Amino acid sequence: MEYRRMGKSGLQLSALSFGSWVTFARQTDDNINDRLMSIAYENGVNFFDNAEVYSAGKSEEMMGRILKKKGWDRSSFVLSSKAFFGWKGEDKKPNQHGLSRKHLMEACDEALQRLQVEYLDLYYCHRADKNVPIEEVVRTMNTLIQQGKIFYWGTSEWSAAEIMEAHMIARELGLEGPAVEQPEYNLFNRRKMESEFLSIFNNIGMGSTIWSPLASGLLTGKYNSGVPDGSRMSLEGYEWLKDRALLDDKVLRVKQLGAFAQELGVSLPTLSIAWCIQNPNVTTAILGATKESQLVENFKAFEVLSVLTEEVREKIDDIMGTKPDV
Ligand code: NDP
Repeated sequence: MEYRRMGKSGLQLSALSFGSWVTFARQTDDNINDRLMSIAYENGVNFFDNAEVYSAGKSEEMMGRILKKKGWDRSSFVLSSKAFFGWKGEDKKPNQHGLSRKHLMEACDEALQRLQVEYLDLYYCHRADKNVPIEEVVRTMNTLIQQGKIFYWGTSEWSAAEIMEAHMIARELGLEGPAVEQPEYNLFNRRKMESEFLSIFNNIGMGSTIWSPLASGLLTGKYNSGVPDGSRMSLEGYEWLKDRALLDDKVLRVKQLGAFAQELGVSLPTLSIAWCIQNPNVTTAILGATKESQLVENFKAFEVLSVLTEEVREKIDDIMGTKPDV
């Protein structure tokens, strides 16, 4: 496993990490989660990602049970959660979501209880909140740091302008700005990581924990000829994801990329994941999995890094047509 510094912070994250979105509670039970987290940990993964909204709090409870059962040294892994969406579903009241001081403080305590830990290493604002001044967010995250409940704070899917505003305010107040952003990054979605955030990577030293490196499985080729039973795109409630992902043009490009991977003698999932982590601005790519075999396969991405020469990357750019104009 390779470990990378999270931006200019002193925290080291494994270049591949593991998260529980969609999978925990919805597709996997405690037994499978135990196996998945164990395989991850044994392969050197030191970062586990979660959020209040994942399976309405059940995902944190499940991860907390596994961590407790495993008894891994707390100092050997980094644990995160995120607040914004709330976990009470459609019934949520006005202050049970968003980034107000009230929700962030309460949500953090709830995450700690569900995960059965004394602190979170990383705590994210899961989205920006137009209804809360960024100064309130900066001050609240710093309060949580001072209380020892979180060690670093970050953002997820914030714009570069919003992240910079948080940094300016933090600097003015002598407080900690966000150390890390969690954006989507994969061969279909490159703009933020390769264009919008460049000046923040260069000038601030922000880390990134990127999500959906396989575009929810699309970049494995598993949807090339339909939707396999039990796969993410087959799940009730995720039609929006299927409608967004399974467009003819996207599937066609995945087929072409798959043929190129075959020419290179590597598997499509490992090529797609290796492509993400070859970007030096990626601190870690968060993997998702429903089966042990998927994780085992995906960890082979490290062996594929050497295949990604400039020529190969250019060919991938031509196939995908998603390289942003910087
Ligand atoms: P991926 O894009 O890697 O998708 C993972 C899914 O793809 C698996 O659950 C599995 O789904 C399928 N898959 C994975 N490997 C293989 C393989 N080798 N062969 C076949 N199928 C495979 O990542 P996720 O979308 O799961 O995101 C990873 C993590 O990122 C999340 O758990 C979460 O922690 C974080 N995240 C954060 C977000 C944010 O807003 N901050 C948003 C989304 C995710 P299946 O078996 O069901 O087909």
